Amino acid sequence: MKKVIYMDNNATTQVDERVLDAMKPFFCEKYGNPSSMHTFGGRVGSDIVKAREQVADLIGARPDEIIFTSCGTESDNAAINSALLSFPEKRHIVTTRVEHPSVLSFCKNFENRGYVVTYLSVDDKGNLDIEELKNSIKDDTAIVSIMAANNETGVIFPFEEIAAIVNEKGSLFHTDAVQFVGKLPLNMKDSNVDMLSLSGHKFHAPKGVGALYIRKGTRFRSFMIGGHQEKGRRAGTENVPLIVGLGKACELASIHVEEDQDRVKSLRDRLEKGLLEKSPDARVNGNHNSRLSNTSNISFEYIEGEAILLLLDQKGIAASSGSACTSGSLEPSHVLRAMGVPFTAAHGSVRFSLSRFNSDEDVDYVLENVPPVINRLREISPFGKESKD
Ligand code: PLP
Repeated sequence: MKKVIYMDNNATTQVDERVLDAMKPFFCEKYGNPSSMHTFGGRVGSDIVKAREQVADLIGARPDEIIFTSCGTESDNAAINSALLSFPEKRHIVTTRVEHPSVLSFCKNFENRGYVVTYLSVDDKGNLDIEELKNSIKDDTAIVSIMAANNETGVIFPFEEIAAIVNEKGSLFHTDAVQFVGKLPLNMKDSNVDMLSLSGHKFHAPKGVGALYIRKGTRFRSFMIGGHQEKGRRAGTENVPLIVGLGKACELASIHVEEDQDRVKSLRDRLEKGLLEKSPDARVNGNHNSRLSNTSNISFEYIEGEAILLLLDQKGIAASSGSACTSGSLEPSHVLRAMGVPFTAAHGSVRFSLSRFNSDEDVDYVLENVPPVINRLREISPFGKESKD
């Protein structure tokens, strides 16, 4: 297969070989069902216990505060659903306009069923207004769900400060930490966060496994209903290989997170600086001072992100765009729109997201190949600067 310079790690990451090795025995050798009465099945129960400890250790939680899910989306849905079922008299949700669809669309769905949802705005750097947040929480607010870090821009919200505010006002606080976990340290022991979502495939475990942290003592109502797995909090036979893989990825993240992130940050900073220097009319979207160290969302004004991606694809570079082609019309991303990024810039946005598997050579290759693509597209752009001015 042709070598790919993979800079789309906020979409998904390469599985770490050590994670794959940890999972392998659970397909054809230790394939029992942990709920079985026989020893063959029961034995894998201890591997789940270990994985739960590994996940808990990474985020400074207790093992019994972790339930395994099928993905980040399920964790987000389960958290919000639980709050609404646990407090049926409360029919208000607070979230932000820049959440992932697994929160935003889920909330919209409840809005269509008669719930009231407040969507908090962000400024042009992607920051929340804490006063607006405080004022939005009412007596009937069942849950405030605000992400830890944004998948498109990497902007980090002050979710610990927000959790303390929400806690004092008497509502539940959930954070979608799918892009945060594995990239920055967390400690739930000193935190007011009630529920937190994470997803394995964002930090070198496979797709299709996630977890939800539920603070001890938090009322919880199951989203998946059926058997008694996960102490009745999430029905469905445990996906043992993937759970073991998630545990191993958490163990690796606990050990390497700081050195990995320092290295990734220096690669990202060199990439960003080089692209801005070599491409006129380029700007970085999002707050530079509170941002994931792997993410750079750059708008190349007056050209279309999708056109950039297609040409980068031909050069073997995988990145992603803030606009998606929907039924023939190019819709800029809801995140950039919420930030008020101008039309000409939102359309030309490209997200580069790195991981520990990126190298200096990858950055050199991107710096060599992206600027000529931008210049070529500018020459033929129907939104060309001249025609626009
Ligand atoms: N939340 C955020 C911030 C994400 O970036 C993603 C995935 O892109 C999700 C939730 C959903 O995670 P999953 O793909 O595991 O369902």
